[in-house]
Amino acid sequence: MEERNVIIIGSGPAGYTAAIYCGRADMKPLMIAGQQPGGQLMLTSDVENWPGEPDGVLGPDLMERLKKQALKFDTEMVDDLVTEVDFSSSPFIVKTADKEFSAKAVIIATGASAMWLNIPGEDRLQGKGVSACATCDGFFFRDKHVVVIGGGDSAAEEATFLTKFASKVTLLVRRGEMRASKIMQKRVMDNEKIEVLFNTEAVELLGEERVQGVKIKNNETGDESTLDVEGYFAAIGHKPTTELFKDILELDPKGYIKHAPDSTKTNIEGVFAAGDVVDPWYRQAITAAGLGCMAALEAERYLAAKE
Ligand code: NDP
Repeated sequence: MEERNVIIIGSGPAGYTAAIYCGRADMKPLMIAGQQPGGQLMLTSDVENWPGEPDGVLGPDLMERLKKQALKFDTEMVDDLVTEVDFSSSPFIVKTADKEFSAKAVIIATGASAMWLNIPGEDRLQGKGVSACATCDGFFFRDKHVVVIGGGDSAAEEATFLTKFASKVTLLVRRGEMRASKIMQKRVMDNEKIEVLFNTEAVELLGEERVQGVKIKNNETGDESTLDVEGYFAAIGHKPTTELFKDILELDPKGYIKHAPDSTKTNIEGVFAAGDVVDPWYRQAITAAGLGCMAALEAERYLAAKE
């Protein structure tokens, strides 16, 4: 088995940025990109907050360009899923269904995924009015009525943020109370543009090309009605992709990989983690890319010190 300098697991903005930096440092990185490379941005349409793109860029186009840039600097890519890792001794072992690789350093950039309700229309209308990121997509809903699902801090924050653009925000909370902190709840309740419907669930999204409404149901009375909205934001939480690393790396109670302060170092020397897999707070492409850069620089320094 050929020993690599560094294996990057995952191919979102963090993974590709790590690959670009490792490649330019002549580390000849191997990226195991997953079966659907590109990460969450593949589900987005316009990205208007990626610096250097004043006219915006489509999420899939941005990922294609990052990939091209990583390939330019000699990143070897494998479009496969990692099925198992062994970090118990160096070199580390990374396995896919039919191959096994070894590496002196590993950068984990497996990301996170938004949790969805899995109601009819949610898949079909992804990027066409369906979003899980108000910071990314709120701008497109100027003067429109939108719905936000969830009762936690994320939902409160997203709903409040969306009032900057939307004419009205309806927040659907499935129980009779919100889980969000009191201060965030107060902010929601005090905002004239936000209407909160308790004990209410979204049942189905309407529209073929764009969101044209959402069917809702009061789970106490059973009453159903339709909200005339053009945007639908799920804010019911995120799940980091860390199943593979359970019992191997230290994870926080929500499953995010723990790292040293101001660093991408995990609890195992030589294993670094970057992007949404360590970040429940910012969850932006640019912050993920920044963490990917940090991981590559830290991996480079680690290898140099080892030699
Ligand atoms: P949470 O797990 O805290 O809240 C999820 C919310 O979604 C709950 O209200 C839950 O309802 C609801 N929900 C879950 N599944 C469904 C479903 N299928 N249908 C309808 N509603 C559903 O996740 P958050 O993302 O809000 O927060 C994650 C963490 O990040 C928390 O610790 C939070 O405090 C923190 N955070 C802090 C912020 C801040 O301080 N500025 C901002 C954002 C997040 P139920 O209550 O009934 O379970």
